[in-house]
Amino acid sequence: MGYKRAKNLRFYDAINLKHGKKVIHFRPPPSLQQGRNNLVYEYFEFNRSLYISNLELSDEIIEKHLQKLNEFKPYAILGTPSTLYLISQYILRNNIDVHPVKVTLCTSETLYPYQRKVIEDAFGCDIFEEWGQGEMVGSAFECKNHGFHLSEEIGLVEFLKDNEDVAAGEEGEIVGTTLINKSMPLIRYYVGDAGIPSDDVCSCGRGLSLVDRILGKTRENIVTKSGKKIPGESFTWIVMEQDWIKESQIFQPSVNKCIIKIVPLGNVEKEKENNLIRQVKNIIGKKEEMEISVEYVEKIYPTQAGKRPFVISKVKQ
Ligand SMILES: [Zn+2]
Repeated sequence: MGYKRAKNLRFYDAINLKHGKKVIHFRPPPSLQQGRNNLVYEYFEFNRSLYISNLELSDEIIEKHLQKLNEFKPYAILGTPSTLYLISQYILRNNIDVHPVKVTLCTSETLYPYQRKVIEDAFGCDIFEEWGQGEMVGSAFECKNHGFHLSEEIGLVEFLKDNEDVAAGEEGEIVGTTLINKSMPLIRYYVGDAGIPSDDVCSCGRGLSLVDRILGKTRENIVTKSGKKIPGESFTWIVMEQDWIKESQIFQPSVNKCIIKIVPLGNVEKEKENNLIRQVKNIIGKKEEMEISVEYVEKIYPTQAGKRPFVISKVKQ
């Protein structure tokens, strides 16, 4: 068995998701990813997994997906936080009865606290997070006691600041050294994520080290002319409070420009828009030279892998 498969199975086992339980994967179906067709739904009997594409998520499409979910009655659902957040918002907004899912797994993107809350409210179940990357230099999974364990046999993970290890509880940039990728032996590879190591011991009894949090892509920072880096997460609480926003993304095309892309819910009031710009400006810093504007869009386009990062900056970090 490949390491990747073994790593996934250990994660599933750690949260009591046994083989044979029905799972919905909200991600592009494998045959679509391989470019063989345009399937929206693809089912695999051997592991009772139903793939539902998350590349298009309009209200009508989410409605169909939820009907499919209610027919399939999964034990678990799996997806990127941004996808599950969109679906959860729709459920809560429309008071939809959904089949009670036992476990939700979030992968491939940073799970922000505001997303966790909405997903929990919509599906009423525990959420577990996984962290990793295609290069396989570091990986972590949440156990059922919510300890975030490093898969230490996959790779050696270091949390650095100015090339020194940070102490437990402090934020550092993550570099990883793969222990399994023989064709590409990446050594102290800059992953692009930041994280906070922990020296706690988990009550589940696993000896694998714990991570306090993975803070997400450092390239998901807004960078100012004066060199200040503001993590995308700083803006999430503002958006969380806006009931007129269905979906949003902050895009920084150049060092003095930020565009807040918004998929609105209903009519937009200019005052709310101005207020939002003011709040974003406050976080960036009033003295910083930054033009902030709002652009209304029909949807936020996902990447080919179905990811919808909250902040995208084209400025070199
Ligand atoms: Zn644990």
